[in-house]
Amino acid sequence: MAFCVSRSFLDPSGVSWTASPFRPSNRPMAPPELHEFRPADPHSDDARPAHFNFDNSYARLPDRFYARVNPTRVSDPNLVKINTELAQQLGLDPESLATEEGVEVLAGNKIANGSAPIAMAYAGHQFGYFVPQLGDGRAILLGEVIGRDGNRYDVQLKGSGRTPFSRGGDGRAALGPVLREYIVSEAMHALGVPTTRTLAAVTAGDRVMRELPLPGAVLTRVASSHIRVGTFQYFAARRDLDATRLLADYTIGRHYPDAVQQPHPYRSFLDGVVARQARLIAQWMNLGFVHGVMNTDNTSIAGETIDYGPCAFLEEYHPGTVFSSIDANGRYAYGNQASAALWNLARLAEAILPLMVEESGGEDAAMTSAREALAAFEPKFLQARRTGFLHKIGLSAELPGDDPLCEELLARMAAQRADFTLTFRTLCGAAADPAHDAQVRSLFADPAAYDGWAAEWRGRLREDPRRPEERVAGMRRVNPAFIPRNHLVEEALTAATNRLDFQPFERLLDVVSCPYEDQPGRERYMQPARPDERVLQTFCGT
Ligand code: AMP
Ligand code: MG
Repeated sequence: MAFCVSRSFLDPSGVSWTASPFRPSNRPMAPPELHEFRPADPHSDDARPAHFNFDNSYARLPDRFYARVNPTRVSDPNLVKINTELAQQLGLDPESLATEEGVEVLAGNKIANGSAPIAMAYAGHQFGYFVPQLGDGRAILLGEVIGRDGNRYDVQLKGSGRTPFSRGGDGRAALGPVLREYIVSEAMHALGVPTTRTLAAVTAGDRVMRELPLPGAVLTRVASSHIRVGTFQYFAARRDLDATRLLADYTIGRHYPDAVQQPHPYRSFLDGVVARQARLIAQWMNLGFVHGVMNTDNTSIAGETIDYGPCAFLEEYHPGTVFSSIDANGRYAYGNQASAALWNLARLAEAILPLMVEESGGEDAAMTSAREALAAFEPKFLQARRTGFLHKIGLSAELPGDDPLCEELLARMAAQRADFTLTFRTLCGAAADPAHDAQVRSLFADPAAYDGWAAEWRGRLREDPRRPEERVAGMRRVNPAFIPRNHLVEEALTAATNRLDFQPFERLLDVVSCPYEDQPGRERYMQPARPDERVLQTFCGT
């Protein structure tokens, strides 16, 4: 049974929603059309508080890649939290980061030794409309560090003041959205999803004007890089082929080094980005994550989840779910995320097409090559989604007939308004012993809807080679008990914003940092919102 999704969920640009989440659509998925300042003011030379060992490769690229700009001071920085584990992974000393001087650095009041603060230039398609210049309007890259794993990471302040890319914005962030990003990005990391991470949050001591005056804050974001599809579009839109090539070569060196060895490095680079996006979106969907603002400027070339604005997790499952207040047409609805990602990848292909023309010896060959690269998205996405989903229901190997089994479960969940996360978590118990069926059944408005499916599922489990204990352990590793449920996030943000009470934030962060473990005494955090607690809409909060 295929889903029925009203046309309003279709991408307005004409990209089609895939009727079955596991099979190619009748129409191949979106055969995309390819068409062709101020100087740093080093306001402190006495600051050597935290040793970052910066090595700033992006700041060594030509000037037109960024604006050199220092953070703007805040009046009274106070530490909310340091991510000790992440600091250690980056080879940083969490204790020195938590000192008064460390906090001054995390607030942007002092420039750490070796930092070369820049605001990166980028463009982007926002809800389908191209904006040739966006850029870091309220973020400043302090520099890059090499982590204990040998990988290079960006360390960036967000909410650290105006930059040449701020347009009308104040360059600031409110405390609520900063804590939301902290909680959700760290939850995604713990869930095993590639993501930017949060190293620290500090309050600014200043108010920021939104609809109401709100406490301001600064977040320290860590990413494999902040290069976006929109970074390529920025140079492509200016027909700056040298910069496009330089950016591609830099990005290949940093994220896709194997591409260099290939006969067509830019094509291989595109293949790599396509593969990472396909896998990423499949992971999101198998966890019920709705990003909410999948613009090309929020699409990381490294394949990480970036930009935790209006994101949210599904509670009751429905593929058409939209949370974001600004996503009026459901362009970025839960079930549209694969087509949205492919649309974004097509924009990347367009941006690097001139490089592909050079390497493939002509426009036709380049177009064919780009189309082939994009055509790989759908099968890769479907395979990752299917494999992930089979693991969720306890099947280790795929057999013909599995797609309808998966689709049928989702169809019944949608019709019966079953909680996405709890359905799969309670299925772990049911896989161990049918006596636990009651917990799953109770999540379906009509519990009988589960029974029919469960009978088929049990039949299929008997054909799967794994021992029951192994199966259940495997299911528990992919079906979280805890996600940052929207009402719990709201509760934490409200307490912090209204009362500077960070306890709910601390507790929720702690809970979602071990999402796959049972946490006795914390059952409240597993429960869906009561009707009066439900969050139906989320806001970017910028
Ligand atoms: P986002 O919606 O967070 O993806 O941001 C889109 C663009 O708006 C980016 O160029 C941001 O840097 C910019 N932006 C968002 N909020 C602000 C702000 N408060 N001040 C200045 N620029 C902002
Ligand atoms: Mg963004």
